[in-house]
Amino acid sequence: MKPAGFLCKIDKLGRIVIPKPLRSKYDLHTDDAIELFTEPDAIVIKKYAMSCIFCGNSENLKMIQNKPVCEDCLKQLKELS
Ligand SMILES: [Zn+2]
Repeated sequence: MKPAGFLCKIDKLGRIVIPKPLRSKYDLHTDDAIELFTEPDAIVIKKYAMSCIFCGNSENLKMIQNKPVCEDCLKQLKELS
């Protein structure tokens, strides 16, 4: 992990502002979902991208029982039945 070159302060409600250059660089827009990850000494913010529960692919997803599954894995599941 390397420093992003910005220093932010947390407000009274625990919020931070992600500086515009970083939002642009990481394609973050108003109302985008972000996911928070933790490391022993850090919190990592990533843009949330729904992905296949089996292989992690994020394209051509279908929802099965409210879970995202890609077409390739769906094909493999059909072959099992
Ligand atoms: Zn898949």
